[in-house]
Amino acid sequence: MLVDEKDASCPECKGQLSVDEIDDCSMYVSCVECGHDMRVEPDAFGDGCVKYYIPFQVSQEFGDECD
Ligand SMILES: [Zn+2]
Repeated sequence: MLVDEKDASCPECKGQLSVDEIDDCSMYVSCVECGHDMRVEPDAFGDGCVKYYIPFQVSQEFGDECD
């Protein structure tokens, strides 16, 4: 799930970030440009969790991922 560039960007290269994985208290994001990855809070992008964390959680529960 791509992160809106208005919300956050890669600290290394200012590239676009992508949410790869979440768990109960964190999101794992990586940069689509340079591959830099990091663990952040669920509301790290100032969206109160509603834009990335919760939708990602919902998509996982419904088994959107085929692999
Ligand atoms: Zn980067």
